[in-house]
Amino acid sequence: MGTALRCRDHQNGGVGRAEAGWGGLPFAVMGIAAEDIERVRSATDLVAVVGDHVALRRSGARWVGLCPFHTERSPSFSVNAELGFYYCFGCQAKGDAITFVRQTRQLDFVEAVESLAARAGIELHWDSHRQSGEHQRRARLVETMGRAVDWYHERLLSSPDAADARHYLRSRGYDGEVVRRFQLGWAPDGWDTLVRALSLPTDMARDTGLGFVNKRGRLQDSFRARVLFPIFDARGDAVALGGRILPGAEGHKYKNSAANQLYDKGEVLYGLNWAKTAAVEHGEVVVCEGYTDVIGLVAAGIPQAVATCGTALTERHVALLRRFASRIVLAFDADGAGQAAAERVYGWERRYEVDVFVAALPRGVKDPADLARDDPDALRRAVAGATPFLGFRLERLLAQTSLVSVESRARAAAAAAQLIGEHPNQIVREDYAAQVALRLDVRPEHLLAGQGGRHRRAEPAPAAKASRRAETASLLALGLAVHEPASVCDLLHDVLFADPVELGAYQALARSTTFAEAVAGAEPGVADLLQRLAVEEVADTDARGVAGRLIDEAASRELARLERSVVGGAWSDADAQLIGWLKQRILDLRDDASRNEAAAPLLAFLIERAGEPPRLDEAS
Ligand code: ZN
Repeated sequence: MGTALRCRDHQNGGVGRAEAGWGGLPFAVMGIAAEDIERVRSATDLVAVVGDHVALRRSGARWVGLCPFHTERSPSFSVNAELGFYYCFGCQAKGDAITFVRQTRQLDFVEAVESLAARAGIELHWDSHRQSGEHQRRARLVETMGRAVDWYHERLLSSPDAADARHYLRSRGYDGEVVRRFQLGWAPDGWDTLVRALSLPTDMARDTGLGFVNKRGRLQDSFRARVLFPIFDARGDAVALGGRILPGAEGHKYKNSAANQLYDKGEVLYGLNWAKTAAVEHGEVVVCEGYTDVIGLVAAGIPQAVATCGTALTERHVALLRRFASRIVLAFDADGAGQAAAERVYGWERRYEVDVFVAALPRGVKDPADLARDDPDALRRAVAGATPFLGFRLERLLAQTSLVSVESRARAAAAAAQLIGEHPNQIVREDYAAQVALRLDVRPEHLLAGQGGRHRRAEPAPAAKASRRAETASLLALGLAVHEPASVCDLLHDVLFADPVELGAYQALARSTTFAEAVAGAEPGVADLLQRLAVEEVADTDARGVAGRLIDEAASRELARLERSVVGGAWSDADAQLIGWLKQRILDLRDDASRNEAAAPLLAFLIERAGEPPRLDEAS
């Protein structure tokens, strides 16, 4: 059997929550005891927290006001005080008190919980002995890294053996202000100068990556004779070092800390700790490859710059950046950006609701750092004029095309059709096809053909999604499942939801004890729908009537499927019987006199037709 909505009250989870258990919740990994997070949530008055930022007024069961996350003149920002969730119909900002504090004050999850706990006078406990120990261990590692960064920095500023490094940095245009701002350092050319100066225990040296035990069993510094660029995580804790040798010295030019307990390069972006405020202000973050690129961009007046340290941009990076900005500009060298895998980029755009742009660096320029030094104006122009990912790739293709011969134009059209075909949105594909057709002097159909139907599935445009209100039976049913779960818990089932997002929302509600839990475990699109439903009215909705409409729609879909599957109208007796039975039940359902009797057998039939639905834990 599929999932059935549990008959628990999502709104006042007091009793239900205590018996629910919290094993699967993502919060457990954050280290704070789940019960504490729940205590903070229920002790927090979301209206008061939001009220610190914007004026709210009551409107029916909700509170409304001007959205703090986008500029507007009439209020589209709503708060459901009871469920503790907000949603903006203008910009789709959404979440609970913790999200609100994170977004308005650029805090991470733990910091936001700590801040709300302090406000509510709640003392936090760490989840378990082990996690408490891990938390303390991390704090010690971070403290050790911080001391090392300070020591290396001091060394660069004042030590005689750093004179060559200072000279080199000045030659690159790095003055004292840059050195201090980015806390650059100098690792002296000794075996164990750092570990002795800081009296580092072996485990601390090893687990921070600052030192290692050599073949003769002696603790040795990891970085020697290098200019150091400390790498901080988003909240500003030093987690790693990048080192560059001086010109003419032996060895690899760059050396980064290896992955360790503090540092996972698929997760950390160099410079984000400094860039995050500017990223929020600009709604944009510029991603480049190296720390010197970030320093160059900042010097050129582009403070919203971060770098992937010697790795490709990962999905975790995108998820992290999305906390601060929805426009991501790739400023890689000319080849690097275009080679990003299109499928991944479009997947991120969809899942995280970000727009990926590419800043086209002038031909022959190696990286943003060089351009920042030689022609900062050109760098600013490249970032300001960044084009969408697909547009950038098409532009590069057309730039290499001779428009003189028809053969060359035909080849370019075929290549362009390939690029266009990779984009998941039909409107976007058609728009680019029209533009490219004009340039190549071919018919737009040629640029949309031959895509094998891979992405032909039309998606609703974002604007259409945003304005969709709870008017369809499925949305009304979901609205009831959010606001009055007891009224629909016996009436709904997986098989009644055709839209994957709506099905996801139903399943999230069905498998969760509280509304917050349903949101926390849901995919972004599903979470968005749930939170929007939380601030919409469902007054005077007849639960049985809604369920009846849903069953009617699902049964009609099944009927159409059955009729299609019978080729050329040559029905077998069994087909004809089944189709006849189904038609009669649908008619019964539409008749006031027989409605109540018809619903149950139809639902049972639909469940049977759907077969054994995949269990939720297997589907994920
Ligand atoms: Zn808004």
